[in-house]
Amino acid sequence: MYDWLIVGAGLYGATFAHEARKRGLSCLVIEKRRHSGGNIYCETVDGINVHKYGAHIFHTSDQEVWRFVTGLVDFNRYTNCPVAKAPNGRLYNLPFNMNTFYQMWGCQTPAEAEAILAEQRHEAVERMRREGIAEPRNLEEQALALIGRDIYEQLIQGYTEKQWGRPCNELPAFIIKRLPVRLTFDNNYFNDLHQGIPIGGYNPLIDKLLEGADVRLGEDFFDRRDYWMAQAERVLFTGKIDQFYDYRFGRLEYRTVRFETEVLNQPNYQGNAVINYTDAQVPYTRIIEHKHFESFGNAVYDNPRTVISREYSTEWTEGMEPYYPVNDHRNQSLYEQYRALAAQEPRVLFGGRLGEYKYYDMAPAIASARRLAHKI
Ligand code: FAD
Ligand code: UDP
Repeated sequence: MYDWLIVGAGLYGATFAHEARKRGLSCLVIEKRRHSGGNIYCETVDGINVHKYGAHIFHTSDQEVWRFVTGLVDFNRYTNCPVAKAPNGRLYNLPFNMNTFYQMWGCQTPAEAEAILAEQRHEAVERMRREGIAEPRNLEEQALALIGRDIYEQLIQGYTEKQWGRPCNELPAFIIKRLPVRLTFDNNYFNDLHQGIPIGGYNPLIDKLLEGADVRLGEDFFDRRDYWMAQAERVLFTGKIDQFYDYRFGRLEYRTVRFETEVLNQPNYQGNAVINYTDAQVPYTRIIEHKHFESFGNAVYDNPRTVISREYSTEWTEGMEPYYPVNDHRNQSLYEQYRALAAQEPRVLFGGRLGEYKYYDMAPAIASARRLAHKI
């Protein structure tokens, strides 16, 4: 008999196991995939750590989380600076900053950029004034009011419609609000204090977190539910909460991504880890070149080969990997029904991206799992 059964060896379950072990509690971790790590798992291909379930960049301003992870593994200096290839065939720096404005309009100073931005925003601002709209009602209105038509058409519209599978005027405004707009020459995608990729990829971090726990791979909780429930006093469940309750209120929805991964016989395919394709005519949203997450400068040429992944964003159906919760009204209220059941569960806690139906980044997932462990 263990103190804890942890269903799912992803970042949430592994962090919880680490904290429980630190408190002298015994843990059995079961994982349905043939490897631990959940979606942060890396596979080594031709000496390159390939982010098998999508590019993962660690970033946080939470000092406690940063101290925690760097106490376990070392991080490299990777800084995410994606580049976008636009419908007009040109390349632009992201997020929207002085480099982007120079490339788009040729302006060289913040004052020149500000003047053009004001002109660009004028159409949307005037329209909102005429129609008596106080706040943008959808992503299209938000983007036009934030950055204007040129950038909307070249860098936002096509990418967003591919990513979400819906027109921009049917999407919520908040999706675009988190993209920084800067009047400095700064291509760093994140505003966080700390950023990087664990040296050697994410697997060593997961292995450290799982040290001292008994881990069984290739075991789906639902294949032998009663057996697993009898193995421990208490349970942390990080799988799908609707599945735990046999979908009794209905199924939660997700967006997913299909990856087409290719090994190329050349050392440097695109010169950057991330290139976004913002043209609606190109079927994929972006291409990831994995070696750039861990080799910098001319070290890229030490390996004569490279691995790239094209990402195709699609609607999720049963049997696919459930990546992004769709936190719209229908799904959110469905989740609340499941959460009410979960709150009455005497022995089971629910956590993580699937257990809480919440789009956690890695750092908040770690912080949340640690808080939960402190509580128990
Ligand atoms: P998961 O990683 O999904 O782990 C859950 C585990 O439970 C899985 O291994 C699953 O197989 C297992 N499981 C499920 N059901 C069962 C069952 N019935 N029996 C046994 N095992 C089960 N975060 C960032 O901070 N930066 C990024 O750049 C970033 N990029 C991302 C890109 C993509 C495409 C995706 C999908 C996510 C990204 N994230 C990123 C988020 C990051 O992946 C999550 O924060 C993290 O994976 C959360 O871990 P988790 O344990 O909650 O979920
Ligand atoms: N976005 C865009 N063009 C880009 C990159 C992002 O229009 O080249 C928009 C898109 O709507 C996306 C949102 O900005 O959903 C947030 O982008 P982010 O990269 O933060 O999304 P993530 O993939 O991390 O969810």
